[in-house]
Amino acid sequence: MSTEEGFASLAGKCALVTGAGRGIGRAIALELARAGAWVVCNDIDPRTATETAARIHLEGRGAFPYAADVSDSEAVRRMVQDVVAATGRLDILVNNAGIEPSSPILETPDEMWDRTMNVNLKAVFLTSRAAGQVMRAQGGGAIVNVASIAGVRTPLALRAHYCASKAGVYGFTKACALEFAAHNIRVNCVCPGVIITPMTAKARRTPEIMARWQQEIPLGRLGTPEEVARVVRFLASDEAAYVTGQAYFVDGGKAMH
Ligand code: NAP
Repeated sequence: MSTEEGFASLAGKCALVTGAGRGIGRAIALELARAGAWVVCNDIDPRTATETAARIHLEGRGAFPYAADVSDSEAVRRMVQDVVAATGRLDILVNNAGIEPSSPILETPDEMWDRTMNVNLKAVFLTSRAAGQVMRAQGGGAIVNVASIAGVRTPLALRAHYCASKAGVYGFTKACALEFAAHNIRVNCVCPGVIITPMTAKARRTPEIMARWQQEIPLGRLGTPEEVARVVRFLASDEAAYVTGQAYFVDGGKAMH
C-alpha cells in the first residue's frame, strides 16, 4: 500500500520516537504520522512532547505524548509497556533523543561523560531491548537509530564524549541488526551532518563556523530536520525491507571521504 505521495504507507503501524519534542525528533514524528503511523512522541520535557502530539492531531493523524527520561531503565520499561497497553503493538522504534554538551577532555567532569553516554548510548540499548522483546513476539519490526557523522568520520573538538557515544550507537546498530535479524527486526542508523535544530543554534550564530561549514559541505548548505526525517521514514518502512545493519549519511556529502 502506498500513500498519496507514492511512498510505502505506515498505516496500522505504531511508532515510538524518542526526543520528539523538538528538532529532528519532531520532524521524524510528523513524517511518520503523515505516512500513516500512530506515533508515540517521547521527550524528557512533557510540554514539548505534548506540542508535537498536538501538531500531529492538527493534521488529523494519531499520536500521544509520553514524557520519560530514556536513560532511565525502569522508565523505559514502563513506557514500552504503556505503549503496547494503549495501542496493542509496537512496530517502529526511532532512537533520536540526544545531548551534546561541550567540554575539553582535560576539564570534562565524570558526570558529563556519564550523562552523555547514558542519554546517547545506554538509552539506545534500553529501548531496543524493551521494544525488541515486543517486536519479537509480534513477528518483526524496524529500529532506526540517530547516530552522527561525528561518531564515525568527522570528530568534533570539545565533544569527545559525544563522538564516543555516537560511535557506540554505530557499533550497537550493527551488532543489534545481527542479533535481531532472526526475529525479523531490521536495525539501521542515520548519521546526520550539520542540521538546523536548537542543538546547532549557538554554532550557527558564529559567522566563522557557518563559513567553514559551507565550505566543508559539498552541497554548500546545512540540512533540515525534514531531510533527516525522510530517510528515517524510508528505513522504517517496508520499502527498506531488505536493508539492515546499515548507516545512512544525511550530511550533504560532508563525510563522504
Ligand atoms: P535537539 O534539538 O537538542 O533535540 C533533542 C531532543 O531530545 C530534545 O527535545 C530533548 O529534550 C530530548 N531529550 C534530551 N535528553 C532526553 C532524554 N534523556 N530522554 C528523552 N528525551 C531527551 O537535538 P537535535 O539536533 O534535534 O538532535 C536529535 C538527534 O540527532 C540527537 O541524537 C543528536 O545527537 C543527533 N544529531 C544532530 C545533529 C545536528 O546537527 N542537529 C547532527 C548529528 C546528529 P530537552 O529539550 O528537554 O532537553
